[in-house]
Amino acid sequence: MKTIALTTLSILFGMTLHSQQPEDSEDWSRRPEVVTPGQYNTPPSDAIVLLGGNETVSNWHHQDGSAVKWEMNDGVLTVKAGTGDIRTKAGFADVQLHIEWRSPGIIRGEGQGRGNSGVFLMDKYEVQILDSYENETYYNGQAGSIYKQHIPLVNASRKPGEWQTYDIIFTAPRFSEDKKLVSPAYMTVFHNGILIQNHVELMGPTIYIGSPSYEHHESRLPIRLQDHGDDVSFRNIWLREL
Ligand code: MG
Repeated sequence: MKTIALTTLSILFGMTLHSQQPEDSEDWSRRPEVVTPGQYNTPPSDAIVLLGGNETVSNWHHQDGSAVKWEMNDGVLTVKAGTGDIRTKAGFADVQLHIEWRSPGIIRGEGQGRGNSGVFLMDKYEVQILDSYENETYYNGQAGSIYKQHIPLVNASRKPGEWQTYDIIFTAPRFSEDKKLVSPAYMTVFHNGILIQNHVELMGPTIYIGSPSYEHHESRLPIRLQDHGDDVSFRNIWLREL
C-alpha cells in the first residue's frame, strides 16, 4: 500500500515537473548593458570621473563654494591642513564608488591622529580613512570602519605611503513625503579588493559624539572628503550611479 502511494506520488510529482519547460524560467526582461571594464587604474566606460586629472579638481569645492585649496599635482590631490573638507559640486544617491587614497609615508602621530581623512557618502555617512597599519585605535574608528557604527570584518591596510583602494556600494536612505524614514542606508565596502563591510545597515549619519539617528535630508547630496589635519592624498575617484 505504502509503495503504491509513493509510486503514485512520484508519478504525479514527475508530471508536474515535466509540465514546466526550461524556457519558462528564462528571464529576458532586462538586457544587461554592455560596460567596458577599466584597464588597471582606469575607470569603466560608464563611470562619472570625479578625480582623474588636474582639471577634474573643478568637480569639487569647499563648503563655502570656494575653489579647492588642497594640493593638486599630476592627478593626485593632497589635503592641505586647515583649508577644510571638500565636496563634489554634484549630488548623488545610490552609487558604486571607487576611490584611491594614500596616507603619508612618514609616520606622524598615532591612533586617530595618523593619516586620518574620510570619504562621506551624501555628505553624512563616513567610511573612515586612517593609517591603520600597525596602528591601534577604537575598532569602529579604524580604516574601513563605518565611523563609530561598524567595525571592518578584517584589517586590509597596506603600509603607510602605499596607495589603497575602497570600492563602496552605497544605498541611500529613503524618506516618505512626510519626512519619515522609510528605509535606512546600507553599505558594502571592499578595501584593497577585500570585503570589509557586507551590506551593513547604518543607524544614521556617522557622528563623533552620541548615538546616531536619521533626520530627513535631500535625496541627492555631495560626496565629501575630510580635512582631518593630515596630508592624505587621493587619486582616481569615480562612481557609477545605481
Ligand atoms: Mg576621518
